[in-house]
Amino acid sequence: MTEPGRAIVLGAGIAGLCAARVLSDRFDEVLVQDRDELPDGPLDRKLLPQGPFVHVLLGRGQALLDRWFPGLDAALADHGAPRMDWARDSRVFHLGAWMPRFDSDIVVRTSPRAVLEFAVRSQLLALPNVRVIDRARAVAPLGDRAGITGVRCDDGTEHLGTLVVDATGRASKSPDWLEGLGLGRPGTTTVKPATAYATRLFKAPAAQLGFRCMYLMPQGPAQPRSDLIYPIEGGRWGVNLFAYDGSPLPADEDFFAFAASLARPDLHDALLQAEPVSEVRRYKNAGNRRVHFDEIARWPSGFAVIVAASCALNPVYGQGMTLAAMGAELLERELGRRGRFDARRFQRRLTRLQAGPWEMSTIEDLRWSSTTGRQGPKARAAQRYTDRVHRAAQTDLSLYRVLAHVIHLARPATDLVKPWAAWRTLRANPTSAAGAVQREGVGA
Ligand SMILES: Cc1cc2nc3c(=O)[nH]c(=O)nc-3n(C[C@H](O)[C@H](O)[C@H](O)COP(=O)(O)OP(=O)(O)OC[C@H]3O[C@@H](n4cnc5c(N)ncnc54)[C@H](O)[C@@H]3O)c2cc1C
Repeated sequence: MTEPGRAIVLGAGIAGLCAARVLSDRFDEVLVQDRDELPDGPLDRKLLPQGPFVHVLLGRGQALLDRWFPGLDAALADHGAPRMDWARDSRVFHLGAWMPRFDSDIVVRTSPRAVLEFAVRSQLLALPNVRVIDRARAVAPLGDRAGITGVRCDDGTEHLGTLVVDATGRASKSPDWLEGLGLGRPGTTTVKPATAYATRLFKAPAAQLGFRCMYLMPQGPAQPRSDLIYPIEGGRWGVNLFAYDGSPLPADEDFFAFAASLARPDLHDALLQAEPVSEVRRYKNAGNRRVHFDEIARWPSGFAVIVAASCALNPVYGQGMTLAAMGAELLERELGRRGRFDARRFQRRLTRLQAGPWEMSTIEDLRWSSTTGRQGPKARAAQRYTDRVHRAAQTDLSLYRVLAHVIHLARPATDLVKPWAAWRTLRANPTSAAGAVQREGVGA
């Protein structure tokens, strides 16, 4: 143990569970606390409004979860979660063509959020030095501007610890807490699209349709509607219908009509063979919000704020849980450094780690004129270049392999502007003059 004592994790969402796992290797004891009642089974929770919505897990997130929880795959299999190779088993339509399909290492177990969270929590609780308590809302930090030493809960209980990790998601009160300690209030950047979506569960047809997952990507600004079929346990599909321009979402009776209005009939045709088994749920607050904790000049020791609490992304790109795991991986690395954990250094590194996914999400959202936020020339150039990469990848499997790993956060987006990728991209787009990448400033 390099950091004896107790670590406290606020929030038992995916970020909190992953953080607790890496902390369990370093601390004598890890206490995870959540405001919600945590069910003793794979059930939706009262205080997690996003629980019933489709939760896509990206390849990088699955790989990290598998490394930390060796029993997770078997546990998810026991829950009936299908195993899917994203690149082989998905049909993805974008910019006028189906993307190639190939055998890859982007393999995930697909499940609803409640199943994944319960399976991860159960694996975590099997560790002897981890405790999870529920119905314990953190209301204030203990300590002073020099360092955080614990947390006070809404029932007056106090928990002391050497490190407090805020993983309370979008509900985080850390900006208030820092301000209350006299450390200043971090600024916030928001990019808010008018994106909304409707989710409904279906019983999948018994017949094989030649795919496990199907995704019609939007094409801004011309094609503001898209769809997703995501396989989950029990032979069911989670189906999302997206509207990127703020147009009204369907209720139960209009779900099929909305599906029929999409640019391609494939999802609608597939749904005609399936049977709806849930009502339609709609979601509207799909904003990106980044809190600039790195701006706080004097960061208190023993305190860290991770993932959705510091960088919440538009859920339509399915990055949230994977980014949560990547934040925990960074925590693992920083805890493993020689000497004491440097909380300020961690927070700054986390900001850098989150910058890539933030750009991927917001640059896509800025394609829509209804999105609030500044659309600068860099974003426009990145959108044009991204479209070129996608077009080139339709017929260039090597390039598509790289692109698929970027989408799954397994490689940085900057890999797509390296000379090899840029050459293949521009070669496949003869109308684009050589050197356009540099001229447009992408990756600069
Ligand atoms: C509609 C929707 C769909 C989404 N779809 C996807 C998807 O497809 N793929 C994906 O990867 N991600 C998706 N996400 C993101 C995902 O749900 C998480 O937000 C993301 O994993 C970040 O997780 P988190 O643990 O930081 O936050 P959360 O998952 O929000 O967890 C925060 C936890 O903190 C607890 N908490 C809050 N305040 C307190 C407090 N004061 N004291 C104690 N506990 C507290 C909450 O009860 C909760 O359990 C979606 C989000 C939404 C809103």
